[in-house]
Amino acid sequence: MRRLAVFFGANLLLAAGAAAQTVPDRFFFEEGKIRVLILTGRNNHDWRSTTPYLRHALELAGEFDVRVTEEPGGLTEETLKPYDVLVANYCGPRWSAQAEKAVEEFVRGGKGLAVVHAASYAFGEPAVFGEKMNQTGVFQQPWTQWGEMVGAVWSDAEPKTGHAPRHAYEVKWRDTQHPISAGLPATFRISDELYHNFRMKPGVHVLASAIDSRDNGGNGKDEPLVWTNAYGKGRVFHTALGHDLDAMQSPGFTVSYARGVEWAARDRVSLPARIDPNPKNRDAVRVLLVTGGHDHDAMFYNVLDGRRDIRVNVDPHPVAFRNDLRPNYDVLVLYDTIQRGQLSEKHLQNLKDFVEAGKGVVVLHHAIADFQDWEWWWKEVVGGRYLLQAEPSYPASSYLHGVEEVVTPKPGHPIVKGLPPMRVFDETYKQVWHSGNVTVLLTSDHPTSDPDIAWVSPYRKSRVVYLQPGHGRETAEMPWYRQLVGNAVLWSAGRM
Ligand SMILES: [Zn+2]
Ligand SMILES: [Zn+2]
Repeated sequence: MRRLAVFFGANLLLAAGAAAQTVPDRFFFEEGKIRVLILTGRNNHDWRSTTPYLRHALELAGEFDVRVTEEPGGLTEETLKPYDVLVANYCGPRWSAQAEKAVEEFVRGGKGLAVVHAASYAFGEPAVFGEKMNQTGVFQQPWTQWGEMVGAVWSDAEPKTGHAPRHAYEVKWRDTQHPISAGLPATFRISDELYHNFRMKPGVHVLASAIDSRDNGGNGKDEPLVWTNAYGKGRVFHTALGHDLDAMQSPGFTVSYARGVEWAARDRVSLPARIDPNPKNRDAVRVLLVTGGHDHDAMFYNVLDGRRDIRVNVDPHPVAFRNDLRPNYDVLVLYDTIQRGQLSEKHLQNLKDFVEAGKGVVVLHHAIADFQDWEWWWKEVVGGRYLLQAEPSYPASSYLHGVEEVVTPKPGHPIVKGLPPMRVFDETYKQVWHSGNVTVLLTSDHPTSDPDIAWVSPYRKSRVVYLQPGHGRETAEMPWYRQLVGNAVLWSAGRM
């Protein structure tokens, strides 16, 4: 008891000393990136689908470290401190006095704010909206400083602020020299609502507008939609665009939004004129994923998605092998089941040429049953074979679906470096033949499985890897498995 008291006493002393120190934010953010906090969680619009996209679009652009809060009503000065810019995807009730003051101080002090679509409606004179456009019938005292920051407010008085039916229209950049718009095409088309009759504040700098066509029930005027505003030392970017995911996914929205957020944070823009929805490094490993001959979950197509260092094309056999693969691909990933007789001599030659050219080959799961009667393939190249039928010197292999097993990486090889043992729910194989000269990467503890379930082949001309797990979605969705397959691709391409 006495020793326990001493122990706690020492801990308290340590805690008291530690409390005086602050831990720098740089330990928790990506270096050099713009720190963005998206404020959301209440909106008459579908924030549940649009907020992930607003985050994703910035992450595609690559310059941002993005966080999201769905409860901005309780923000404090301390919460906002690490951030460079706030993105408001919010249209709901007012926040605590403390939160509103924190946001005002944040912007006034020289940081950024980006206001998206209905966020201009929030905190104003008209009634508060509920989720899914529900009328709450509640009027709140306006947060006047919000309107000052946004640069405009909504009004129910004539001419009423609002919009005609959503339609496709052309947005025109009025200022083509501003950092946000410089270098962009002069116009872009979008299917969106076109807000009209904003009550604009003096000093707002309009960047883009669109004609609110009378034919569509509009007021016939050229309506400001994208603008910047100053608030204290801070910068505000506003876009009236972005009613829903369809509107936000238009390239014109995405690029103006990402550049607007960058400008609000840094007072300059370095992003390109197009945000690539699938950005890849210039030297990304070029993968041909070959399917066919075996059913599989469509989920498998995105096992390598979201990586900048790997670019994937999917092609089923036999057409996958119709051309010389060497000029276009670095790694062949086989997730198919095929026998030699199904390919023409030309197809077989293309495959052979690729494998003998010092390229990469990753054989996944059921592709271990490929080319049963092509000894060169299974004995030399893959170093293993699932036997569909027993042969005089080899027993038939067998499988079992839906097994829970613990898969353990063997230390030492870069493909499994840093990967922990993992519990997976997959299909097991038994009595798969493999060469005694393979380098084993993974083992299984399960009685229905062979102990060795992944390896690097001893084949010398190319780097060949076999990974047995990967029957279905349960495995394909695991970050652990995605890392494993990604590593196998990079290693087989000679990149690790
Ligand atoms: Zn809307
Ligand atoms: Zn399977």
